[in-house]
Amino acid sequence: MTVRDEFMQHTYSRIRDAVSSNDKNAAPPSTLPQPSQLGRARASLPRSDDDRATVEHLLGDIAPALNGQNRSGRYWGFVTGAVLPVAEVADNMVSAFDQNVQVHLPHQTIATEVEDAALKMLLDILRLGTAEEWAGRTFTTGATASNILGLACGREGVLTHRLSTAGFKEKTASELGILSACMRAGVREIRVLTSMGHSSLSKAASIVGLGSATVHELPHSVDEPWRLDLDAVQRELQREGVACIIALSAGEVNTGRSATRGLEDMRRLRQLADQYGAWIHVDGAFGIFARALPDTDEFSRLHQTAAGLELADSITVDGHKLLNVPYDCGLFYTRQVSVLTSVCQNPNAAYLSSSASDGIQSPLNVGLENSRRFRALPAYAVLISEGREGLAHMFARMVRLARGIAAVVRDSPDYLLLPDNQGDEHGAELGDTHICVLFRAKEDSLNDVLVEAINATGAWYVSSTKWKGQKAVRVAVANWRINVTEDQELVGRSLASIAQEHKTSRSHV
Ligand SMILES: *Cc1c(COP(=O)(O)O)cnc(C)c1O
Repeated sequence: MTVRDEFMQHTYSRIRDAVSSNDKNAAPPSTLPQPSQLGRARASLPRSDDDRATVEHLLGDIAPALNGQNRSGRYWGFVTGAVLPVAEVADNMVSAFDQNVQVHLPHQTIATEVEDAALKMLLDILRLGTAEEWAGRTFTTGATASNILGLACGREGVLTHRLSTAGFKEKTASELGILSACMRAGVREIRVLTSMGHSSLSKAASIVGLGSATVHELPHSVDEPWRLDLDAVQRELQREGVACIIALSAGEVNTGRSATRGLEDMRRLRQLADQYGAWIHVDGAFGIFARALPDTDEFSRLHQTAAGLELADSITVDGHKLLNVPYDCGLFYTRQVSVLTSVCQNPNAAYLSSSASDGIQSPLNVGLENSRRFRALPAYAVLISEGREGLAHMFARMVRLARGIAAVVRDSPDYLLLPDNQGDEHGAELGDTHICVLFRAKEDSLNDVLVEAINATGAWYVSSTKWKGQKAVRVAVANWRINVTEDQELVGRSLASIAQEHKTSRSHV
Protein backbone atom coordinates (compact mmCIF):
# COMPACT_ATOMS: atom_id res chain seq x y z
CA MET A 1 0.00 0.00 0.00
CA THR A 2 1.34 3.42 -0.93
CA VAL A 3 1.50 6.32 1.46
CA ARG A 4 -1.35 7.93 -0.46
CA ASP A 5 -3.53 4.79 -0.19
CA GLU A 6 -2.88 4.68 3.53
CA PHE A 7 -3.81 8.32 3.84
CA MET A 8 -7.10 7.67 2.04
CA GLN A 9 -7.95 4.57 4.02
CA HIS A 10 -7.15 6.14 7.35
CA THR A 11 -9.08 9.30 6.44
CA TYR A 12 -12.19 7.45 5.24
CA SER A 13 -12.37 5.67 8.55
CA ARG A 14 -11.99 8.96 10.42
CA ILE A 15 -14.83 10.43 8.37
CA ARG A 16 -16.99 7.49 9.41
CA ASP A 17 -16.01 8.06 13.05
CA ALA A 18 -17.00 11.70 12.75
CA VAL A 19 -20.38 10.79 11.25
CA SER A 20 -21.41 8.08 13.66
CA SER A 21 -20.59 8.01 17.31
CA ASN A 22 -19.12 4.70 18.47
CA ASP A 23 -20.51 5.28 21.93
CA LYS A 24 -23.78 3.32 22.15
CA ASN A 25 -24.87 5.28 25.22
CA ALA A 26 -24.32 8.66 23.65
CA ALA A 27 -27.32 10.89 23.03
CA PRO A 28 -28.76 10.70 19.51
CA PRO A 29 -27.05 13.11 17.10
CA SER A 30 -28.48 16.60 17.23
CA THR A 31 -30.42 17.83 14.21
CA LEU A 32 -28.43 21.08 14.34
CA PRO A 33 -24.89 22.12 15.34
CA GLN A 34 -24.35 24.32 18.41
CA PRO A 35 -23.94 28.06 17.68
CA SER A 36 -20.42 27.78 19.10
CA GLN A 37 -19.53 25.07 16.59
CA LEU A 38 -20.83 27.23 13.76
CA GLY A 39 -18.86 30.19 15.08
CA ARG A 40 -15.69 28.21 15.34
CA ALA A 41 -16.03 26.87 11.80
CA ARG A 42 -16.81 30.33 10.46
CA ALA A 43 -13.74 31.81 12.14
CA SER A 44 -11.60 29.07 10.61
CA LEU A 45 -12.55 29.84 6.97
CA PRO A 46 -10.53 29.67 4.78
CA ARG A 47 -7.20 28.21 5.75
CA SER A 48 -4.33 27.11 3.55
CA ASP A 49 -2.74 23.85 4.60
CA ASP A 50 -1.13 20.66 3.34
CA ASP A 51 -3.28 17.54 2.89
CA ARG A 52 -3.00 16.26 6.45
CA ALA A 53 -3.64 19.59 8.11
CA THR A 54 -6.52 20.14 5.70
CA VAL A 55 -8.11 16.91 6.91
CA GLU A 56 -7.75 18.14 10.52
CA HIS A 57 -9.43 21.38 9.51
CA LEU A 58 -12.27 19.56 7.67
CA LEU A 59 -12.94 17.11 10.48
CA GLY A 60 -12.12 19.40 13.39
CA ASP A 61 -13.75 22.66 12.32
CA ILE A 62 -16.13 22.01 9.43
CA ALA A 63 -17.69 18.64 10.34
CA PRO A 64 -19.03 19.72 13.77
CA ALA A 65 -20.69 22.73 12.15
CA LEU A 66 -22.72 20.71 9.64
CA ASN A 67 -26.36 19.90 10.31
CA GLY A 68 -27.64 16.46 11.26
CA GLN A 69 -29.56 15.82 8.05
CA ASN A 70 -28.02 12.41 7.56
CA ARG A 71 -26.74 11.68 11.07
CA SER A 72 -30.07 12.19 12.83
CA GLY A 73 -33.16 10.24 11.81
CA ARG A 74 -35.31 13.16 12.92
CA TYR A 75 -34.27 15.86 10.52
CA TRP A 76 -37.66 16.33 8.84
CA GLY A 77 -37.10 19.74 7.28
CA PHE A 78 -37.55 20.45 3.56
CA VAL A 79 -37.84 17.06 1.85
CA THR A 80 -34.32 15.81 2.21
CA GLY A 81 -33.91 12.09 2.67
CA ALA A 82 -30.69 10.66 4.07
CA VAL A 83 -28.11 8.19 2.77
CA LEU A 84 -28.45 4.43 3.01
CA PRO A 85 -25.08 2.84 3.90
CA VAL A 86 -24.81 0.97 0.61
CA ALA A 87 -25.47 4.24 -1.25
CA GLU A 88 -22.67 5.96 0.65
CA VAL A 89 -20.29 3.16 -0.26
CA ALA A 90 -21.28 3.47 -3.92
CA ASP A 91 -20.93 7.24 -3.76
CA ASN A 92 -17.38 6.98 -2.43
CA MET A 93 -16.68 4.59 -5.27
CA VAL A 94 -17.99 7.17 -7.73
CA SER A 95 -15.40 9.67 -6.51
CA ALA A 96 -12.63 7.09 -6.27
CA PHE A 97 -13.09 5.96 -9.90
CA ASP A 98 -14.22 9.35 -11.24
CA GLN A 99 -15.87 8.19 -14.46
CA ASN A 100 -17.04 10.80 -16.91
CA VAL A 101 -20.39 9.37 -17.97
CA GLN A 102 -21.31 11.32 -21.08
CA VAL A 103 -20.75 9.07 -24.10
CA HIS A 104 -22.01 5.50 -24.29
CA LEU A 105 -18.80 3.52 -24.85
CA PRO A 106 -19.70 -0.09 -24.13
CA HIS A 107 -16.23 -1.44 -24.97
CA GLN A 108 -14.53 0.93 -22.55
CA THR A 109 -16.72 1.19 -19.46
CA ILE A 110 -19.83 -0.41 -18.05
CA ALA A 111 -21.00 2.90 -16.54
CA THR A 112 -23.72 3.81 -19.09
CA GLU A 113 -25.15 0.30 -18.89
CA VAL A 114 -25.32 0.54 -15.10
CA GLU A 115 -27.14 3.85 -15.46
CA ASP A 116 -29.61 2.39 -17.88
CA ALA A 117 -30.18 -0.67 -15.69
CA ALA A 118 -30.98 1.65 -12.75
CA LEU A 119 -33.35 3.75 -14.87
CA LYS A 120 -35.19 0.61 -15.96
CA MET A 121 -35.37 -0.81 -12.44
CA LEU A 122 -36.96 2.35 -11.09
CA LEU A 123 -39.51 2.38 -13.94
CA ASP A 124 -40.47 -1.09 -12.89
CA ILE A 125 -40.63 -0.31 -9.17
CA LEU A 126 -42.83 2.73 -9.88
CA ARG A 127 -44.97 0.57 -12.23
CA LEU A 128 -44.80 3.17 -14.98
CA GLY A 129 -44.59 0.80 -17.92
CA THR A 130 -41.88 -0.72 -20.08
CA ALA A 131 -38.46 0.62 -20.97
CA GLU A 132 -39.59 0.77 -24.62
CA GLU A 133 -42.48 3.05 -23.68
CA TRP A 134 -40.13 5.38 -21.77
CA ALA A 135 -37.28 5.42 -24.27
CA GLY A 136 -36.22 8.91 -23.19
CA ARG A 137 -34.60 8.52 -19.77
CA THR A 138 -31.67 9.94 -17.89
CA PHE A 139 -30.16 10.72 -14.50
CA THR A 140 -30.14 14.41 -13.56
CA THR A 141 -28.82 16.44 -10.63
CA GLY A 142 -32.26 16.52 -8.99
CA ALA A 143 -35.91 17.36 -9.48
CA THR A 144 -35.22 20.95 -10.49
CA ALA A 145 -33.04 19.79 -13.37
CA SER A 146 -35.69 17.20 -14.28
CA ASN A 147 -38.36 19.91 -14.30
CA ILE A 148 -36.15 22.01 -16.57
CA LEU A 149 -35.93 19.05 -18.96
CA GLY A 150 -39.69 18.52 -18.61
CA LEU A 151 -40.53 22.09 -19.59
CA ALA A 152 -37.87 22.12 -22.32
CA CYS A 153 -39.43 18.97 -23.79
CA GLY A 154 -42.93 20.36 -23.28
CA ARG A 155 -41.95 23.52 -25.14
CA GLU A 156 -40.44 21.47 -27.96
CA GLY A 157 -43.39 19.08 -28.07
CA VAL A 158 -46.15 21.68 -28.23
CA LEU A 159 -44.32 23.94 -30.69
CA THR A 160 -43.32 21.12 -33.00
CA HIS A 161 -46.96 20.04 -33.05
CA ARG A 162 -48.08 23.57 -33.93
CA LEU A 163 -45.35 23.97 -36.54
CA SER A 164 -46.35 20.80 -38.30
CA THR A 165 -50.05 21.77 -38.16
CA ALA A 166 -49.04 25.05 -39.79
CA GLY A 167 -47.29 23.07 -42.52
CA PHE A 168 -43.75 23.91 -41.43
CA LYS A 169 -41.69 20.75 -41.17
CA GLU A 170 -38.14 21.73 -42.16
CA LYS A 171 -36.86 22.63 -38.71
CA THR A 172 -37.73 21.84 -35.11
CA ALA A 173 -38.53 24.43 -32.45
CA SER A 174 -35.16 23.87 -30.76
CA GLU A 175 -33.41 24.71 -34.02
CA LEU A 176 -35.53 27.77 -34.71
CA GLY A 177 -35.72 29.07 -31.16
CA ILE A 178 -38.95 29.93 -29.37
CA LEU A 179 -39.46 33.32 -30.98
CA SER A 180 -39.22 32.18 -34.56
CA ALA A 181 -41.09 28.93 -33.91
CA CYS A 182 -43.98 30.79 -32.27
CA MET A 183 -44.20 33.28 -35.11
CA ARG A 184 -44.20 30.62 -37.80
CA ALA A 185 -46.74 28.49 -35.90
CA GLY A 186 -49.05 31.39 -34.99
CA VAL A 187 -48.55 30.89 -31.24
CA ARG A 188 -48.98 34.06 -29.18
CA GLU A 189 -48.31 32.51 -25.82
CA ILE A 190 -47.13 29.32 -24.15
CA ARG A 191 -48.79 28.62 -20.80
CA VAL A 192 -47.80 26.23 -18.04
CA LEU A 193 -50.95 25.08 -16.25
CA THR A 194 -50.54 23.85 -12.69
CA SER A 195 -51.94 23.75 -9.16
CA MET A 196 -49.48 24.58 -6.39
CA GLY A 197 -46.57 23.71 -8.66
CA HIS A 198 -43.23 23.53 -6.87
CA SER A 199 -41.22 26.78 -6.92
CA SER A 200 -38.69 25.09 -9.19
CA LEU A 201 -41.37 24.91 -11.88
CA SER A 202 -41.36 28.70 -12.19
CA LYS A 203 -37.57 28.68 -12.17
CA ALA A 204 -37.61 26.06 -14.93
CA ALA A 205 -40.09 28.16 -16.94
CA SER A 206 -37.74 31.10 -16.63
CA ILE A 207 -34.64 29.10 -17.59
CA VAL A 208 -36.18 27.52 -20.69
CA GLY A 209 -37.32 30.93 -21.92
CA LEU A 210 -41.05 30.62 -21.31
CA GLY A 211 -40.96 33.06 -18.41
CA SER A 212 -42.08 32.37 -14.86
CA ALA A 213 -45.19 34.49 -15.41
CA THR A 214 -46.47 31.90 -17.89
CA VAL A 215 -47.06 29.52 -14.97
CA HIS A 216 -50.81 29.68 -14.31
CA GLU A 217 -52.37 28.42 -11.11
CA LEU A 218 -55.67 26.65 -11.71
CA PRO A 219 -56.75 25.48 -8.24
CA HIS A 220 -59.81 23.31 -7.94
CA SER A 221 -61.05 25.17 -4.85
CA VAL A 222 -59.98 27.18 -1.81
CA ASP A 223 -60.00 24.04 0.31
CA GLU A 224 -58.20 21.87 -2.22
CA PRO A 225 -55.74 24.26 -3.88
CA TRP A 226 -53.36 21.41 -4.73
CA ARG A 227 -55.99 19.85 -7.00
CA LEU A 228 -56.06 20.93 -10.64
CA ASP A 229 -59.33 22.32 -11.98
CA LEU A 230 -59.77 20.17 -15.07
CA ASP A 231 -62.61 22.28 -16.48
CA ALA A 232 -60.36 25.33 -16.28
CA VAL A 233 -57.61 23.35 -18.05
CA GLN A 234 -60.03 22.55 -20.84
CA ARG A 235 -60.92 26.23 -21.22
CA GLU A 236 -57.24 27.19 -21.39
CA LEU A 237 -56.55 24.55 -24.03
CA GLN A 238 -59.32 25.94 -26.21
CA ARG A 239 -57.78 29.42 -26.37
CA GLU A 240 -56.81 30.53 -29.82
CA GLY A 241 -53.08 30.99 -30.34
CA VAL A 242 -52.10 29.59 -26.93
CA ALA A 243 -50.04 26.40 -26.53
CA CYS A 244 -50.13 24.66 -23.13
CA ILE A 245 -47.93 22.47 -20.96
CA ILE A 246 -49.89 20.81 -18.15
CA ALA A 247 -47.57 20.49 -15.14
CA LEU A 248 -49.00 18.17 -12.51
CA SER A 249 -47.79 18.44 -8.96
CA ALA A 250 -47.74 14.90 -7.56
CA GLY A 251 -47.46 15.67 -4.71
CA GLU A 252 -47.53 19.15 -3.41
CA VAL A 253 -44.74 20.03 -0.96
CA ASN A 254 -46.82 21.25 1.99
CA THR A 255 -49.52 18.62 2.08
CA GLY A 256 -48.17 15.83 -0.10
CA ARG A 257 -51.51 15.88 -1.93
CA SER A 258 -51.82 15.41 -5.67
CA ALA A 259 -53.10 17.48 -8.58
CA THR A 260 -55.17 14.54 -9.83
CA ARG A 261 -57.41 12.09 -7.99
CA GLY A 262 -56.43 9.06 -10.00
CA LEU A 263 -56.98 7.23 -13.25
CA GLU A 264 -60.21 9.00 -14.31
CA ASP A 265 -58.65 12.46 -14.03
CA MET A 266 -55.52 11.33 -15.85
CA ARG A 267 -57.54 9.77 -18.68
CA ARG A 268 -59.46 12.98 -19.14
CA LEU A 269 -56.25 15.04 -19.18
CA ARG A 270 -54.63 12.66 -21.66
CA GLN A 271 -57.60 12.92 -23.97
CA LEU A 272 -57.58 16.73 -23.75
CA ALA A 273 -53.82 16.93 -24.29
CA ASP A 274 -54.05 14.74 -27.38
CA GLN A 275 -56.96 16.72 -28.74
CA TYR A 276 -55.26 20.11 -28.33
CA GLY A 277 -51.61 19.17 -28.75
CA ALA A 278 -50.64 19.87 -25.14
CA TRP A 279 -47.86 18.20 -23.14
CA ILE A 280 -48.33 16.62 -19.72
CA HIS A 281 -45.41 16.80 -17.31
CA VAL A 282 -45.62 15.21 -13.87
CA ASP A 283 -43.48 16.59 -11.05
CA GLY A 284 -43.40 13.44 -8.94
CA ALA A 285 -40.19 14.31 -7.06
CA PHE A 286 -41.25 12.49 -3.91
CA GLY A 287 -44.98 11.88 -4.42
CA ILE A 288 -44.60 9.35 -7.19
CA PHE A 289 -43.01 6.93 -4.73
CA ALA A 290 -46.52 6.33 -3.37
CA ARG A 291 -46.81 3.92 -6.29
CA ALA A 292 -44.07 1.77 -4.77
CA LEU A 293 -45.84 1.30 -1.42
CA PRO A 294 -47.07 -2.18 -0.48
CA ASP A 295 -50.33 -3.19 -2.16
CA THR A 296 -52.37 -3.28 1.02
CA ASP A 297 -55.49 -1.53 2.36
CA GLU A 298 -53.28 0.66 4.49
CA PHE A 299 -52.04 2.46 1.37
CA SER A 300 -54.97 1.98 -1.00
CA ARG A 301 -55.98 5.68 -1.02
CA LEU A 302 -52.45 6.67 -2.01
CA HIS A 303 -52.30 4.04 -4.76
CA GLN A 304 -55.64 5.24 -6.05
CA THR A 305 -54.52 8.88 -6.17
CA ALA A 306 -51.21 8.10 -7.87
CA ALA A 307 -52.84 5.90 -10.51
CA GLY A 308 -52.73 7.10 -14.11
CA LEU A 309 -49.52 9.14 -13.81
CA GLU A 310 -48.06 6.76 -16.39
CA LEU A 311 -50.22 8.55 -18.98
CA ALA A 312 -47.96 11.63 -18.82
CA ASP A 313 -45.49 12.65 -21.53
CA SER A 314 -42.69 13.26 -19.06
CA ILE A 315 -41.98 12.62 -15.39
CA THR A 316 -39.66 14.07 -12.74
CA VAL A 317 -38.43 11.76 -9.98
CA ASP A 318 -36.03 12.71 -7.20
CA GLY A 319 -33.32 10.27 -6.11
CA HIS A 320 -31.83 12.19 -3.21
CA LYS A 321 -35.12 12.37 -1.32
CA LEU A 322 -37.12 9.18 -0.70
CA LEU A 323 -34.64 6.85 -2.36
CA ASN A 324 -32.07 7.88 0.26
CA VAL A 325 -29.09 8.29 -2.02
CA PRO A 326 -26.68 11.22 -1.58
CA TYR A 327 -27.05 14.55 -3.38
CA ASP A 328 -27.08 15.06 -6.31
CA CYS A 329 -29.46 12.62 -7.91
CA GLY A 330 -32.69 12.94 -9.86
CA LEU A 331 -34.28 11.10 -12.76
CA PHE A 332 -36.18 12.16 -15.83
CA TYR A 333 -38.36 10.04 -18.08
CA THR A 334 -40.18 10.84 -21.29
CA ARG A 335 -42.11 8.76 -23.81
CA GLN A 336 -40.95 11.10 -26.59
CA VAL A 337 -37.28 10.31 -26.96
CA SER A 338 -37.04 12.25 -30.23
CA VAL A 339 -38.24 15.40 -28.46
CA LEU A 340 -35.63 14.93 -25.73
CA THR A 341 -32.78 14.38 -28.19
CA SER A 342 -33.98 17.28 -30.29
CA VAL A 343 -33.59 19.52 -27.20
CA CYS A 344 -30.32 18.07 -25.86
CA GLN A 345 -28.41 16.90 -28.94
CA ASN A 346 -24.80 18.07 -29.28
CA PRO A 347 -24.64 18.66 -33.01
CA ASN A 348 -21.38 18.62 -34.99
CA ALA A 349 -19.26 16.83 -32.41
CA ALA A 350 -18.05 13.68 -34.10
CA TYR A 351 -15.57 12.98 -31.33
CA LEU A 352 -18.47 12.67 -28.88
CA SER A 353 -20.47 10.14 -30.84
CA SER A 354 -21.12 6.57 -29.85
CA SER A 355 -21.23 3.80 -32.41
CA ALA A 356 -23.25 1.43 -30.23
CA SER A 357 -26.66 0.30 -31.46
CA ASP A 358 -27.99 -1.31 -28.30
CA GLY A 359 -30.65 1.33 -27.60
CA ILE A 360 -28.67 3.10 -24.87
CA GLN A 361 -28.45 6.83 -25.50
CA SER A 362 -25.26 8.72 -24.83
CA PRO A 363 -26.17 10.75 -21.73
CA LEU A 364 -24.85 13.99 -23.22
CA ASN A 365 -27.56 13.90 -25.89
CA VAL A 366 -30.46 13.37 -23.48
CA GLY A 367 -29.52 15.62 -20.56
CA LEU A 368 -28.35 19.07 -19.54
CA GLU A 369 -24.70 18.32 -18.89
CA ASN A 370 -22.00 16.88 -21.06
CA SER A 371 -19.36 15.87 -18.50
CA ARG A 372 -21.09 14.39 -15.50
CA ARG A 373 -20.38 12.16 -12.54
CA PHE A 374 -21.48 8.53 -12.29
CA ARG A 375 -24.43 9.57 -10.15
CA ALA A 376 -26.43 6.52 -11.08
CA LEU A 377 -24.22 4.17 -9.06
CA PRO A 378 -25.62 4.93 -5.57
CA ALA A 379 -29.17 4.65 -6.93
CA TYR A 380 -28.27 1.39 -8.64
CA ALA A 381 -26.81 0.08 -5.37
CA VAL A 382 -29.98 0.96 -3.44
CA LEU A 383 -32.28 -0.50 -6.10
CA ILE A 384 -30.52 -3.84 -6.23
CA SER A 385 -29.83 -4.18 -2.52
CA GLU A 386 -33.32 -3.14 -1.34
CA GLY A 387 -35.30 -4.45 -4.28
CA ARG A 388 -39.02 -3.81 -4.68
CA GLU A 389 -39.83 -5.28 -1.28
CA GLY A 390 -37.13 -3.55 0.69
CA LEU A 391 -38.09 -0.20 -0.78
CA ALA A 392 -41.82 -0.80 -0.24
CA HIS A 393 -41.03 -1.56 3.39
CA MET A 394 -38.86 1.55 3.81
CA PHE A 395 -41.50 3.81 2.20
CA ALA A 396 -44.22 2.21 4.33
CA ARG A 397 -42.31 3.08 7.50
CA MET A 398 -42.07 6.71 6.35
CA VAL A 399 -45.83 6.86 5.76
CA ARG A 400 -46.58 5.19 9.09
CA LEU A 401 -44.49 7.72 10.96
CA ALA A 402 -46.07 10.64 9.07
CA ARG A 403 -49.51 9.27 9.94
CA GLY A 404 -48.43 8.68 13.52
CA ILE A 405 -47.32 12.30 13.81
CA ALA A 406 -50.55 13.46 12.13
CA ALA A 407 -52.53 11.46 14.70
CA VAL A 408 -50.56 12.99 17.58
CA VAL A 409 -51.33 16.47 16.25
CA ARG A 410 -54.97 15.67 15.54
CA ASP A 411 -55.52 14.30 19.06
CA SER A 412 -53.78 17.19 20.81
CA PRO A 413 -55.85 20.01 22.33
CA ASP A 414 -53.18 22.57 21.40
CA TYR A 415 -52.61 21.93 17.70
CA LEU A 416 -54.58 21.82 14.49
CA LEU A 417 -53.89 19.30 11.73
CA LEU A 418 -53.96 20.81 8.23
CA PRO A 419 -55.43 20.84 5.66
CA ASP A 420 -58.42 21.13 7.94
CA ASN A 421 -61.04 19.51 5.77
CA GLN A 422 -59.77 15.96 5.97
CA GLY A 423 -61.49 12.89 7.29
CA ASP A 424 -64.78 12.42 9.02
CA GLU A 425 -65.89 14.55 11.95
CA HIS A 426 -63.68 12.54 14.28
CA GLY A 427 -60.80 13.17 11.91
CA ALA A 428 -60.12 9.46 11.84
CA GLU A 429 -59.15 9.32 8.21
CA LEU A 430 -55.43 9.67 7.54
CA GLY A 431 -55.39 7.56 4.40
CA ASP A 432 -54.42 10.54 2.24
CA THR A 433 -51.34 11.26 4.35
CA HIS A 434 -48.18 10.27 2.48
CA ILE A 435 -44.93 11.60 3.99
CA CYS A 436 -45.89 15.23 4.70
CA VAL A 437 -47.67 16.47 7.82
CA LEU A 438 -48.88 20.06 7.98
CA PHE A 439 -50.10 21.65 11.19
CA ARG A 440 -50.19 24.77 13.33
CA ALA A 441 -50.73 25.77 16.92
CA LYS A 442 -54.27 26.83 17.80
CA GLU A 443 -52.89 29.72 19.86
CA ASP A 444 -51.52 32.38 17.47
CA SER A 445 -48.79 33.51 19.84
CA LEU A 446 -47.49 29.95 20.06
CA ASN A 447 -47.83 29.53 16.31
CA ASP A 448 -45.52 32.51 15.78
CA VAL A 449 -42.64 30.80 17.62
CA LEU A 450 -43.48 27.14 17.07
CA VAL A 451 -40.93 26.24 14.40
CA GLU A 452 -38.11 27.92 16.36
CA ALA A 453 -39.20 26.15 19.54
CA ILE A 454 -39.23 22.72 17.87
CA ASN A 455 -35.89 23.22 16.14
CA ALA A 456 -34.30 24.60 19.31
CA THR A 457 -34.84 21.21 20.98
CA GLY A 458 -32.19 19.73 18.67
CA ALA A 459 -34.18 16.48 18.92
CA TRP A 460 -36.27 17.00 15.79
CA TYR A 461 -36.26 19.47 12.95
CA VAL A 462 -39.12 20.84 10.85
CA SER A 463 -39.71 23.47 8.16
CA SER A 464 -41.68 26.65 8.40
CA THR A 465 -44.34 27.28 5.76
CA LYS A 466 -47.60 29.13 5.25
CA TRP A 467 -51.06 27.73 4.79
CA LYS A 468 -53.98 29.99 3.85
CA GLY A 469 -51.88 32.98 4.82
CA GLN A 470 -50.99 31.71 8.29
CA LYS A 471 -47.71 30.32 9.57
CA ALA A 472 -47.61 26.55 9.67
CA VAL A 473 -45.23 23.69 10.43
CA ARG A 474 -44.35 21.15 7.79
CA VAL A 475 -42.88 17.76 8.66
CA ALA A 476 -41.51 15.70 5.76
CA VAL A 477 -40.49 12.15 6.64
CA ALA A 478 -38.04 10.82 4.07
CA ASN A 479 -35.28 9.28 6.16
CA TRP A 480 -34.50 5.56 6.39
CA ARG A 481 -33.21 5.94 9.98
CA ILE A 482 -36.62 6.66 11.49
CA ASN A 483 -38.10 4.63 14.32
CA VAL A 484 -41.88 4.81 13.92
CA THR A 485 -42.90 4.22 17.55
CA GLU A 486 -40.11 6.08 19.33
CA ASP A 487 -40.21 9.07 17.00
CA GLN A 488 -43.96 9.42 17.27
CA GLU A 489 -43.72 9.34 21.06
CA LEU A 490 -40.94 11.90 21.05
CA VAL A 491 -42.99 14.28 18.90
CA GLY A 492 -46.01 13.83 21.20
CA ARG A 493 -43.96 14.63 24.31
CA SER A 494 -42.14 17.49 22.67
CA LEU A 495 -45.28 19.17 21.32
CA ALA A 496 -47.07 18.85 24.64
CA SER A 497 -44.16 20.32 26.57
CA ILE A 498 -43.72 23.20 24.09
CA ALA A 499 -47.42 24.06 24.47
CA GLN A 500 -47.18 23.76 28.25
CA GLU A 501 -44.10 25.96 28.50
CA HIS A 502 -45.75 28.53 26.31
CA LYS A 503 -48.81 28.66 28.57
CA THR A 504 -46.62 28.93 31.66
CA SER A 505 -44.47 31.70 30.23
CA ARG A 506 -47.55 33.65 29.18
CA SER A 507 -49.20 33.35 32.56
CA HIS A 508 -46.07 34.94 34.09
CA VAL A 509 -46.26 38.00 31.85
C1 LIG B 1 -37.75 18.90 -3.89
C2 LIG B 1 -38.69 19.12 -4.99
C3 LIG B 1 -38.30 19.76 -6.16
C4 LIG B 1 -36.90 20.31 -6.34
O1 LIG B 1 -36.03 19.25 -6.30
P1 LIG B 1 -34.47 19.38 -6.09
O2 LIG B 1 -34.09 17.96 -6.00
O3 LIG B 1 -34.30 20.15 -4.83
O4 LIG B 1 -33.91 20.06 -7.27
C5 LIG B 1 -39.21 19.88 -7.18
N1 LIG B 1 -40.46 19.44 -7.03
C6 LIG B 1 -40.90 18.84 -5.91
C7 LIG B 1 -42.31 18.39 -5.82
C8 LIG B 1 -40.03 18.67 -4.85
O5 LIG B 1 -40.44 18.07 -3.73
